[in-house]
Amino acid sequence: MHFRKTLFLISILFVVELAAGQSRKIINVPDILGYQTLKCDFHMHTVFSDGTVWPTIRVEEAWREGLDAISITDHIEYRPHSKDIISGHNRSFEIAEPKAENLNVLLIQAAEITRGMPPGHLNALFIRNANLLDREDVNDALKEAREQGAFILWNHPGWKSQQPDTTLWWEEHSELLKNDLLHGIEVFNSRSYYPEALDWANEKKLTMFCNTDVHGPIGMSFELENSHRPMTLVFAKSRTLGGIKEALFNRRTAVYFDNTLMGEPDFLEPLFFASLEYGDSPLRLKNEETKYVQIKNNSDIDYELEMVQPGIGFDCQESVLLKAHHITTIELNGNSDEVIGMKELNVYYRVKNMFVSSEENLVVTFSFRNY
Ligand code: ZN
Repeated sequence: MHFRKTLFLISILFVVELAAGQSRKIINVPDILGYQTLKCDFHMHTVFSDGTVWPTIRVEEAWREGLDAISITDHIEYRPHSKDIISGHNRSFEIAEPKAENLNVLLIQAAEITRGMPPGHLNALFIRNANLLDREDVNDALKEAREQGAFILWNHPGWKSQQPDTTLWWEEHSELLKNDLLHGIEVFNSRSYYPEALDWANEKKLTMFCNTDVHGPIGMSFELENSHRPMTLVFAKSRTLGGIKEALFNRRTAVYFDNTLMGEPDFLEPLFFASLEYGDSPLRLKNEETKYVQIKNNSDIDYELEMVQPGIGFDCQESVLLKAHHITTIELNGNSDEVIGMKELNVYYRVKNMFVSSEENLVVTFSFRNY
């Protein structure tokens, strides 16, 4: 009896110690417009296709890195470990699900439909039975996914193995789009950025994605100590599977890799300003005077600003770096008497690490109260 009690205590301590030894990073990217900004990765593999890790590890990696949601997207058609791993296509999800539940990581059931170009590789998210996607004709597989309620995205559209010279949009993709079988596109995959995809997302009203497509342990593929894995930011009404699905179908996402963000100005601009804090008391700037505005950046993103056009009656720095988790001063110098008449001092900056298309940066306007 005593022995059993001791054994019980030891096992409890062991469990507590394991849980206490884990820590989760916090990714500081603000919520905007009443939505929660969820940090997500919708493309990764396990031993159940051509990856080298067990499904529960994908969940633990995501938890440690501070992600809200992931989907495991094992290939339907490509399973190089199938001599050793003999199972149906739902197995990686089933194994990962209890761990995800336990750690409160949202796990979306998914699969990668893996074909030559066109149409290439497509992820079907929010499916219910991956076995039914194992079809000869790619259109049958996609239709089946859609009947299950899937959101479908085109992966790595400019992947060199499939599109070696130019990244082309094929007639087949127009057909898919027309038939409600294509809803999103990877603008960024692993370490590759596809500028064409960013412009197509804007033109053709596709949802933008940024995913890892990780195959090995995450720490062997990405620098996690001082940076983060590439991720899709999802602006969701709630931190639920339904919340994510609604946001994806309504194109509320942004791309986030290294120190770069890409997306629609409607999301990037509020994200930029929600990252910052600065006072609102009038500056009362006069000619030949200098005033400072202290701007606190609460986010993980270093914002690199470059002036677009000077203000009226004053000038300020040509370039400013709003360093993450730091306070930076913007210096305003009155250069004519005109400045006294200005109610607000407007400063126009281009954010060099925020892109709204392949060729345009986000432009922001600071309006500092003057009188
Ligand atoms: Zn993949």
